[in-house]
Amino acid sequence: MTNSTKIKQSGEPGNQLSSHFIKTLISRDLEEGKHGGRVRTRFPPEPNGYLHIGHAKSICLNFSVAAEYGGQCNLRFDDTNPAKESQEYVDSIKDNIRWLGFEWNGEVRYSSSYFDTLFEFANQLIASGHAYVCNLSPEQSREYRGTLMEAGRNSPDRDRPAAESLALFAKMRAGEFAEGECSLRAKIDMSSPNINMRDPVLYRIRHISHHQTGDQWCIYPTYDFTHCITDALEGITHSLCTLEFEDHRPLYDWILNSLDLKSIRAASVLADSDSPYVLPRQTEFAKLKLNYTMMGKRNLRTMVEEGVVSGWDDPRMPTIAGMRRRGFTPASLRNFCESVGVSRREGVVDLGMLEHAIRDDLDKHAPRAMCVMKPLKVEIGNIPEGDVIQLSLANHPKDESMGRRDVPLTREIFIDRSDFEIDPLPGFKRLIAGGEVRLRGAYVIKCHHVERDSRGEVVLLHCSADLDTLGKKPEGRKVKGVIHWVSATDGKTVSIRLYDRLFLVENPEAKDIENYRDCLNPDSLIEVSGAVVEPSVFEGSNLRFQFEREGYFYRDGDLTATENPVFNRTITLRDSWAG
Ligand code: ATP
Ligand code: MG
Repeated sequence: MTNSTKIKQSGEPGNQLSSHFIKTLISRDLEEGKHGGRVRTRFPPEPNGYLHIGHAKSICLNFSVAAEYGGQCNLRFDDTNPAKESQEYVDSIKDNIRWLGFEWNGEVRYSSSYFDTLFEFANQLIASGHAYVCNLSPEQSREYRGTLMEAGRNSPDRDRPAAESLALFAKMRAGEFAEGECSLRAKIDMSSPNINMRDPVLYRIRHISHHQTGDQWCIYPTYDFTHCITDALEGITHSLCTLEFEDHRPLYDWILNSLDLKSIRAASVLADSDSPYVLPRQTEFAKLKLNYTMMGKRNLRTMVEEGVVSGWDDPRMPTIAGMRRRGFTPASLRNFCESVGVSRREGVVDLGMLEHAIRDDLDKHAPRAMCVMKPLKVEIGNIPEGDVIQLSLANHPKDESMGRRDVPLTREIFIDRSDFEIDPLPGFKRLIAGGEVRLRGAYVIKCHHVERDSRGEVVLLHCSADLDTLGKKPEGRKVKGVIHWVSATDGKTVSIRLYDRLFLVENPEAKDIENYRDCLNPDSLIEVSGAVVEPSVFEGSNLRFQFEREGYFYRDGDLTATENPVFNRTITLRDSWAG
């Protein structure tokens, strides 16, 4: 069977895709011919916030598993809670998935587009004695539900005749009741040790409009009622979700098994096919957790609302939108998600792993350029004013296919202030008064005279170039240091945002932390204005660079603006956090 060979190969070293328990399960289902050879997954985001790196893991899993088995992955917005949802989130989620490199099967789907069918199925459950309209108030319901230690109590409405519940449910739908006045509940078992099975609510009254269905509905189905049925209607074979839904799986199965299978099939995409109809199966995996990171949408929203970050797409946010602005590549996120693997064991992944993934990708693919963060002017006396020496530098030290670029050298250049020292510590290999240093890709220069302003600050270095040192060692002496530089006449001024980790503590969501704000890294954003980059940075369409010796950077903001372009530091060259 081809699918099992695929799995074997994927476990072999060198093959990027590794095996995991979900693939083992799918392979077994396929071998048993369970779904007629079909594999269909879905990614079911609730449009109540921006997606984060945890969602990226779920996206990668659902889409790549489907692709690996020649199946499809649907995108279905789980939009049953209109109070917190919006079109803005729908749009950003679609955009994020495509940016990650995935395309969903057919149209975008919404749970809300199944509201009519869901309503019919609810009526079916009532008619068959599996659900009832309950008049307990939300507070009373909580009281009747019991606790982990104590069984719940039956609602006084539990045994009302089906006909009465059907009539009440119709009235609920018609808007005749206020919010909280009644609800539709499944009739399961108030003494179940699993609280999810204690007659859970299937429909609640909400007099609010919905971003997709407007004012058509004033009753909305719950997640539990909706999810299993919409999975079944879309012919989903494997419904993958995170571990907190494990206790909901009995309810998922109960609802589907309490409905008439023929009517589900008739309402599903498989109605006219001869594929065997098997109900979808829910399988749980552990959520991705990252240290030094707050992840839940609720926490992310708090940071946005409290102005701790500039928005959902602040480059320090673990959102896909933020990481994208920071300069992460889709491949780096996919590689990261692949490398953390899929299991049922809850664990915390080191943020260093994510940083490694982007560093690794950019090291291979980002062209090199020079950027001077804190410019100090150097005058090279033996290059005449107005002369431009066009040097040709490789865009990548190890990859010739990335080509070369012209870098102009002129009489006046900038070097970084930190590359010059009046009183150097022992071992300082860069420029000192009377010393020599090599300009990256150019000549060795010597500093003859240091000019200071009235406050004593160094403002200009008078140097000369040894014009016999282009691509050659200087005669009769060793010059150890190499520094980066930019022509003062041809360089372009830019602003730089140096981003770093947002939190100083491993677990900013820990229970004993009173306020997450106390754990913020005060240096998570350092703005540098007046940096200077070589002109080649603006010559092509590329937006990602390694600024040599400084890190990896990504162009931000309005790309057409000529004034003050901004570069975000994606990541430093080396891991400065590793202990
Ligand atoms: P959060 O708890 O961060 O608010 P959520 O689970 O409420 O996220 P949904 O929009 O409901 O967000 O999730 C869409 C899908 O992404 C679900 O299948 C969910 O299980 C999965 N998912 C959410 N967070 C993670 C995570 N940290 N790791 C892996 N998958 C996740
Ligand atoms: Mg949720």
